[in-house]
Amino acid sequence: MDYDVIIIGAGPGGIYAAYELTKEDKGLKVGVFEAGKKLEERKCPIDGDKIKTCINCESCSIMSGFGGAGAFSDGKYNITNDFGGTLHEYVGKEEAIRLMEYVDSINVAHGGAGTKLYTTANSSFKKLCRQNDLILLDASVRHLGTDINYIVLGKLYDELKDKVDFRFRTPVTKIDVIDGGYMVTAGAESFTCKKCIVSVGRSGSKWMEEICSALDIPTESNRVDLGVRVEIPAELFSHITDELYESKIVYKTEKFEDKVRTFCMNPRGSVVTENTNGIVTVNGHSYEDPAKQTDMTNFALLVAKHFSYPFKDSNGYGESIARLSNMLGGGVIVQRFGDLIRGRRTNYKRLADSFVVPTLKAEPGDLSLVLPKRILDGIIEMIYALDKIAPGTANDDTLLYGVEVKFYNMEVKVNERLETKYSGLYMIGDGSGVTHSLSHASASGVFVARDILKSMQA
Ligand SMILES: Cc1cc2nc3c(=O)[nH]c(=O)nc-3n(C[C@H](O)[C@H](O)[C@H](O)COP(=O)(O)OP(=O)(O)OC[C@H]3O[C@@H](n4cnc5c(N)ncnc54)[C@H](O)[C@@H]3O)c2cc1C
Repeated sequence: MDYDVIIIGAGPGGIYAAYELTKEDKGLKVGVFEAGKKLEERKCPIDGDKIKTCINCESCSIMSGFGGAGAFSDGKYNITNDFGGTLHEYVGKEEAIRLMEYVDSINVAHGGAGTKLYTTANSSFKKLCRQNDLILLDASVRHLGTDINYIVLGKLYDELKDKVDFRFRTPVTKIDVIDGGYMVTAGAESFTCKKCIVSVGRSGSKWMEEICSALDIPTESNRVDLGVRVEIPAELFSHITDELYESKIVYKTEKFEDKVRTFCMNPRGSVVTENTNGIVTVNGHSYEDPAKQTDMTNFALLVAKHFSYPFKDSNGYGESIARLSNMLGGGVIVQRFGDLIRGRRTNYKRLADSFVVPTLKAEPGDLSLVLPKRILDGIIEMIYALDKIAPGTANDDTLLYGVEVKFYNMEVKVNERLETKYSGLYMIGDGSGVTHSLSHASASGVFVARDILKSMQA
């Protein structure tokens, strides 16, 4: 065999699997095959000046390369079983938390020392939320920030590069089951291994579907989250973000009893675009370094849409809605809340006259032409509910960017060891559908690495 273990994808799932496999020298030959570039070569060409919108690079530097989709993220590592994935359903709740705490300790030891660990425990906001029909979910969150997250990744790479055979710009095209292991093909080259960890994240979702279909591995797909990114002056939310940094707040709408939730809160951050397989959606991040912070806070408001028989293509539904916004706005659309509730589009003049300056150059438009009424109604209700705990959220000048879509990779059928029906073929991280976050994806990598080490010792 060329390798003992091949890891496909160098996002958090792949990196932490490689870290754990090589932490102690067991003489294992580990290869990491990554479609994207090295960390230092990753650069999104959007500069807001010459290049304003996504130009669909062959490999999206935001989503692909060493560090995966997490490389330029806000680096919020949430330690919780309440959101971020369903790892606990496979490995047990206590083990899942232990794994996430272990990942946190590695981050702290690799440049994250000095960053703050926030917690909702004993927060007075729980009561305030309850009093206003809102539920604050429990979590601890380490906020590395985009800058420290980058440093941590750099240190991890430096530590791994001599122990692991990294192959960048190497998109894996095929996995074949062979005697005693697997053959992994990337373009014209093929490599054999005893064990294979597939950790291709969201950007690898289409490829995962093909691989699972080729290997007849059962999958299920029935969820997509749709919504908008809200941007407001930071001081309106500072009483919440200063204490909790990120708060996951859930609201049940009166009209349809749908659940709307806050997601990915970025105090003093920036709104950014994200390109998944050519579809431009919105996201956000923020820096730990005060010099790089803005005066604005952003967070997503999302509604989960589950489908039932006969419709199976939940991501296709989300993509169609995102495409609609791309068609109308050439990318992401921005609208003032006041314009949305008055039933009119935001134009350049209204945006320029507003008291709030957007952190992303997006096309002013009308989100009611894009999002389904039921979802938009839910978002509007939630904005009014949040206005009760953070007055000003429902101001006319509050900015809504659309659309934000959380694509869920189809859930791959894996056992409690995150192994497919093929012995030694593991599917982890966001690509497996088991996780949807940095902490859960990283923890799943550590978990399967330990499983492999155990099986190799046996
Ligand atoms: C802008 C942004 C901000 C975010 N902020 C946060 C946050 O603050 N907190 C949080 O918890 N989560 C955040 N997320 C989500 C988080 O980044 C992901 O949950 C996490 O990165 C998933 O890790 P992963 O290893 O499963 O997959 P990924 O990080 O997606 O990594 C998968 C890797 O596999 C590679 N790959 C794909 N297909 C192939 C192939 N065929 N062959 C070889 N390589 C392949 C990709 O290039 C990629 O590098 C954010 C995401 C984005 C885009």
